Amino acid sequence: MTHQRIAIYPGTFDPVTNGHLDIIGRGAQLVDRLIVAVAVNAGKGPLFELEDRVDLLQEEIRHLPEAIAARIEVRPFRSLLMRFAEECGAGLILRGLRAVSDFEYEFQMAGMNHRLNPAIETVFLMASETHQFISSRFVKEIARLGGDVGSFVSPRVVARMQRQFGAGHTPPASDPTAPTLPQLAPRAPL
Ligand code: ADP
Repeated sequence: MTHQRIAIYPGTFDPVTNGHLDIIGRGAQLVDRLIVAVAVNAGKGPLFELEDRVDLLQEEIRHLPEAIAARIEVRPFRSLLMRFAEECGAGLILRGLRAVSDFEYEFQMAGMNHRLNPAIETVFLMASETHQFISSRFVKEIARLGGDVGSFVSPRVVARMQRQFGAGHTPPASDPTAPTLPQLAPRAPL
């Protein structure tokens, strides 16, 4: 039996962006199986329920080239990431790295996960030049204020967000993903 190289790409994916899809597509070419692991992450006050985030990812992956899509699986998880990785038989945790903003958080997470299980390596893919600045948080903020997010997410995600905001979803006040950047809000009339 040949040894399969299995990687886990964990995240909140609220919602999946073109930046995530770029990491997924590139990551899947480096391994035999890529498990996109969707975290509950209730603390982040997600816009989409876990099941919806999984659905959206599955839908996006169906649109990738078949040879790549065949290696990818999307799974929700509610447990400790390293335990989930062990259950999946993964040897790698895949993460994306944007400019400097992600570094400290990712550095700490990789270090602590390494302590929990040194046999599982965290590997990083640099965000592509064209997707460097995309974040789910800003996508939600722009969409909530009626801006065009069509170059950051797929048309399917755009439609789902329109429905969600149309349904009157307002993130809770304590939500760290709630709008905080005044420059993205519509300007007050002069
Ligand atoms: P988390 O809550 O775990 O940070 P996210 O869904 O925000 O989940 O991100 C999952 C992973 O994808 C992280 O490693 C993050 O750095 C990476 N990522 C997010 N956006 C991009 C992007 N535009 N390009 C490359 N990687 C990204």
